Amino acid sequence: MERAFWSTPYLANLDAEVLAIDGREVVISPTIFFAESGGQESDRGTIGGIEVEQARIVDDRIVYRLAAEPDFSVGDQVAVAIDWPRRYALMRLHFAAEIVLELFYKKFPAMEKVGAHIGQSKARIDFAFQGNISRHFPEIERDVAQLVAADLPIESRFTDAARLRRCWSIAGFAQVPCGGTHLRSTAEVGRIRLKRNNIGAHKERVEIYLMD
Ligand SMILES: [Zn+2]
Repeated sequence: MERAFWSTPYLANLDAEVLAIDGREVVISPTIFFAESGGQESDRGTIGGIEVEQARIVDDRIVYRLAAEPDFSVGDQVAVAIDWPRRYALMRLHFAAEIVLELFYKKFPAMEKVGAHIGQSKARIDFAFQGNISRHFPEIERDVAQLVAADLPIESRFTDAARLRRCWSIAGFAQVPCGGTHLRSTAEVGRIRLKRNNIGAHKERVEIYLMD
């Protein structure tokens, strides 16, 4: 199956061929419908007009469980539509989190990430960290704002196509392995705000919110 959400991450509608059906579970190709991985939540939307309840990765395929029995057959072409405002918010928060993480790594090379999650209304990164991480927020927020203002192109590509390994890169800033969906430019992240959440002994949670 072709993962069109990688080659064309800005497509919200695309017809696909039905490759397999098992009860309410279907496999399609190409697909624009992202399945949760790397902490980025799944898309929401419809396949053949039927709502998708769950998208999950099984081996090298993505299996979509529909809310009702499909009224289409293997080999049919079906219309696939994703909730674009949700996906775009996920893409912006995802990339905001990518930048924030890289900036912390540049500031503290030995820093350890212990968790991350990208939702529609906020992203979070958890660090093993001693002390109050929020004292570094003004500097990180300033550096994010500079990257956003610079409108830097973001390149996404395969590093190992056979094993579905991908990365994103910004010239002069970072190259990071990631199988998520990425923006074209840092400008699209827009203004962000960081918020601290102390989640236990020597663990600090950085929450990221979009401000516009
Ligand atoms: Zn990513």
